[in-house]
Amino acid sequence: MLSKRAEALKPSPTLAINAKEKALKAQGLDIAGFGAGEPDFDTPEHIKQAAIKAINDNFTRYTPAAGIDPLKDAVIEKFKRDNGLTYKRDEIIISCGGKHALFNLFEAIFQEGDEVLIPVPFWVSYPPMVELTGAKPVLVETEEKEDYQVTGSLLKKYINSKTKGIILNYPSNPAGSVYYRENLEKIGRLAVENNLYIISDEIYEKLTYDDYRHISIASLDKSFKDRTIICHGVSKTYAMTGWRIGYAAGPAHVIKAMSNIQSQSTSNPTSISQMAAIAALNGPQDIIPIMVNEFKKRRDFIISELRSIEGVTCYKPKGAFYAFPNFNAILGKRYKDKTIESSATLTEILLEDFHTAVVPGAEFGKEGYIRLSFATSMDVIKKGLERIKKAVREFR
Ligand SMILES: *Cc1c(COP(=O)(O)O)cnc(C)c1O
Repeated sequence: MLSKRAEALKPSPTLAINAKEKALKAQGLDIAGFGAGEPDFDTPEHIKQAAIKAINDNFTRYTPAAGIDPLKDAVIEKFKRDNGLTYKRDEIIISCGGKHALFNLFEAIFQEGDEVLIPVPFWVSYPPMVELTGAKPVLVETEEKEDYQVTGSLLKKYINSKTKGIILNYPSNPAGSVYYRENLEKIGRLAVENNLYIISDEIYEKLTYDDYRHISIASLDKSFKDRTIICHGVSKTYAMTGWRIGYAAGPAHVIKAMSNIQSQSTSNPTSISQMAAIAALNGPQDIIPIMVNEFKKRRDFIISELRSIEGVTCYKPKGAFYAFPNFNAILGKRYKDKTIESSATLTEILLEDFHTAVVPGAEFGKEGYIRLSFATSMDVIKKGLERIKKAVREFR
């Protein structure tokens, strides 16, 4: 018999689609893959060399569970440099990926009886991770035509005495939406008034476009910082998804609880990867503008192509590397003997009949939408969009 918790848990749908896409490719099929949630760039050379040096120096033993001081110091420097935020070592934890930092955080602050506000569309892992703690995810709808903003008046409707925290993710996965100062200040004040934790997932901070400059909510007011835990990592910024290094910054008592959980579960993140992460944070940053320029070109192309499909609308992402078009106008149409009644059916048809892999919006809480990652080559993007347009022409 499995535990109830495990029985209720399904695997990450994005990782599942990625696996299906890879399996079909391995069968020799020419799949245009928009599933990937990771940069298609290689980890920069100086970062790889730092890891190789760590191995040669035999830096291959256990480290302190919450990470080594030189990496915490590099993270402290990063927050000073990029966000004007000052943290001490006991306010920083290094985890096995940003996802692991979030997991430890939720374990540390949420429990049965608590409610956690999650704006929709959300990153697929937030609701299941909150549920694992026994707390209840409370989904807060946001709208494409309002640039997916949560506002104070909207949040007030959902806040009650059980509300323990709010999860912000900006730039966001899946929509690439962002927050500006004015709205962050309103959300922060509401969190202070209602004694909420602010979980700020800023993993896409460095991947932003146009005039948008990321502002961490913690940097706006000391009373915000005192209740904010920033979750971050090197995966997306430095094309290091496989290295599994994330980090969090927040109040010392929360960080200590997270370290205790980590010390009783995974112990330290990989020693070698920690040395690589120091090189990433302290070393040359030139991969960032290179990636951003490339992603921006692809974004401009993919958004204008998607918007050219009749009935389809799409928010133009200000950050991250995903397009999240609204295909609701296509729902209800037919293809062969199927009615396209959901984003899941649409996704299935696109993959099986048009060899194009996208993620159904329902997984992010938005039925009728699909997510396309543009962390893939321009060739694949062009080919995939041709196929999607062809599919839509064949829907009746
Ligand atoms: C990718 C991602 C993460 C974490 O990635 P890690 O590889 O675990 O660091 C966290 N939040 C969001 C929204 C993401 O897209």
